[in-house]
Amino acid sequence: EAKQAGGACICHYQPEMNQKMEKRFELETMINDALLCNQFKAHFQAKIDLVSRQIIGAEALCRWHHPEKGTINPIDFIPTAEETGHIIKIGDLMLKQACQFAVECNSWTQEPFVVAVNVSPKQLFYGRFLSSLGQCLEETGCKASWIELEITESVLINDSDEIITLLETIAALGVMITIDDFGTGYSAMSYLHRFPIKCLKIDQSFVRDMRADPQKQILVTAMLAMAHGLGLKTVAEGVEYEDVADTLTELKCDIGQGYLWHRPSPAEQLLGKIRTEKAA
Ligand code: C2E
Ligand code: MG
Ligand code: MG
Ligand code: MG
Repeated sequence: EAKQAGGACICHYQPEMNQKMEKRFELETMINDALLCNQFKAHFQAKIDLVSRQIIGAEALCRWHHPEKGTINPIDFIPTAEETGHIIKIGDLMLKQACQFAVECNSWTQEPFVVAVNVSPKQLFYGRFLSSLGQCLEETGCKASWIELEITESVLINDSDEIITLLETIAALGVMITIDDFGTGYSAMSYLHRFPIKCLKIDQSFVRDMRADPQKQILVTAMLAMAHGLGLKTVAEGVEYEDVADTLTELKCDIGQGYLWHRPSPAEQLLGKIRTEKAA
């Protein structure tokens, strides 16, 4: 189509591009205001031990509570926040709320209750991440071993000494590092032994409709076998059906997370469930 339009295509696309940039700028301004007005809140989704079927941890997921637009989901603002660098501040807020939540939960549980936080590449590379993490742990009284960082494979494309050193320092503190969305990214598996990775989280696109799609089940089976062979922990995200949970349990997947058990919810709500479970 562009070829047919010839040179004119540049003029043709101009207004669209301007519109896109305006939209982005508008969102950027909104994110800035939202930070000032404290509109970003961590919701928490339970992680379930697939053997005991008890809640053993949670993942912090960012929600933007906009006074007029209601709740805005990450997919609609994280990419822009990542581009503009706002993700660094948002990430710090999530880390802080995750640490607070971990302290509360661990006062109710015997086994360590681990809270996972998603960390974006920008945050790790430019955000003075180590000092933010240290400060959050100290201010909240959270133990390093109660926090887990979920990073995507995109972080590991850059295998500079700097990033290896950073991840090793974080791991040495006792914070667990997990690969999120495993299987969807740039899976040059060699990173699994070059980086201090402790856990693989299999992407929901493989897990969700696993029972209907034998090929997906084959992939999940292979990923679990590989992870266990390497001594890594495994989490399956996007568990929506009981028989998927049962299959995962048979395949020795350690942890499940999904709508079958819990949707992401405000801290108080999940804490209530944990207290009920622990009291029972
Ligand atoms: P993710 O880290 O892979 O998180 C899992 C997503 O799957 C979450 O979407 C969660 O609500 C959803 N989910 C959980 N169980 C199920 C299920 O059974 N079925 C289905 N269909 N979905 C399920 P959410 O909260 O919209 O977050 C989307 C993505 O946004 C996250 O994917 C993560 O990459 C990013 N994100 C969220 N919060 C943060 C944050 O604080 N910082 C950064 N950097 N990224 C974040
Ligand atoms: Mg995640
Ligand atoms: Mg994921
Ligand atoms: Mg994902």
